[in-house]
Amino acid sequence: MPASLALVVEIGRFLALHRLEVSSFTLAIAHDYLTGEDARLLRLIDSRLQACGGIDRQWLEMALSDPDPDSDRKAMSALMVKMQSNIEEFGRTTADARSAASAYGSALAEHVDSMQRRADSADMVAEIARLAAAMLDRSRELERAMTRSELQTRGLQRRLDDARRNAEKDHLTGLPNRRAFETRLAQEVGEARESHEPLCVAICDIDHFKAVNDTHGHEAGDRVLKSVAQALARISNDRCHVARHGGEEFVVLLRGQSLGECWELLDEVRAQQAERKLVNRATDVPFGRVTFSAGLADIFAFADPRAALRAADQALYRAKSGGRNRVIIARPETAELAA
Ligand code: GH3
Ligand code: MG
Ligand code: MG
Repeated sequence: MPASLALVVEIGRFLALHRLEVSSFTLAIAHDYLTGEDARLLRLIDSRLQACGGIDRQWLEMALSDPDPDSDRKAMSALMVKMQSNIEEFGRTTADARSAASAYGSALAEHVDSMQRRADSADMVAEIARLAAAMLDRSRELERAMTRSELQTRGLQRRLDDARRNAEKDHLTGLPNRRAFETRLAQEVGEARESHEPLCVAICDIDHFKAVNDTHGHEAGDRVLKSVAQALARISNDRCHVARHGGEEFVVLLRGQSLGECWELLDEVRAQQAERKLVNRATDVPFGRVTFSAGLADIFAFADPRAALRAADQALYRAKSGGRNRVIIARPETAELAA
């Protein structure tokens, strides 16, 4: 079979397998995915498939409209390069100022020295005055250049801080994103281990969220997502970190509380959320009960934080299959305990 025909057959299979309707949008996606032409798309779809998520049209539209996570990184590196050169420039200006001052200083010293040795000092005085005036002009000029450099460096520093904050924030919910969570996790694990404090992690996932989107539309879905994010964010403080893990999933990292205490806290948020009556403000149609399920794990009961996250995910799965709207504690595997 010619290669182009084989590709058409593959595209057809891809669309049928994922039950995607045939449209120019899905055809282009299938083509780019199967030929590997779009590396980002390839990565997005593969990781979605590995996570056992479906790739329906809605997900595709959403995933592709998400800003490229690499672009933040690229903007940040560009900024870092600019900042680096600015600092170098600043350094050069300072070094210039220092060497100019020392050059004028030695010239002045030489003149003073020779003045002391010579009688006809009138010319010498004029010469020194000229030199001192030139030195003054030059230092003023350098001072202006240094002020300019300093202002630029401060401006860049501010932009760098903004970029760093932006790259770690989820723009829909305002919560820290997964990248920020990874950094926080590593830091908290280190600190909790050192201070012998317990550290627990929970993965929370909104129940039947696809139905909210299907019934009320994606924008209304976004508002529901924000409202659940806010409910969870209410328990956040310097020892409880809530982040958006992706999609309609959130992670909560709790330090200094026992597994039982963490369960109670999360279950309270779950119960409060289950009691809330959310209404679609665009249509006045109630959303019905919007609940979430969670899997909770004691990080130090597992071989490493990754294993604890996997266990929390499995506990979440059990919460879903057990009827949803519940928080389930992950039991460490015997093998993991032994490790
Ligand atoms: P379950 O109770 O098993 O978790 O069911 P579910 O419907 O919540 O789970 P599923 O994984 O089937 O669907 C999740 C949906 O979440 C599909 C996806 O379109 C939607 N989603 C993910 N991120 C967003 C988002 O940022 N905004 C909106 N509106 N929807 C999102
Ligand atoms: Mg989910
Ligand atoms: Mg869900």
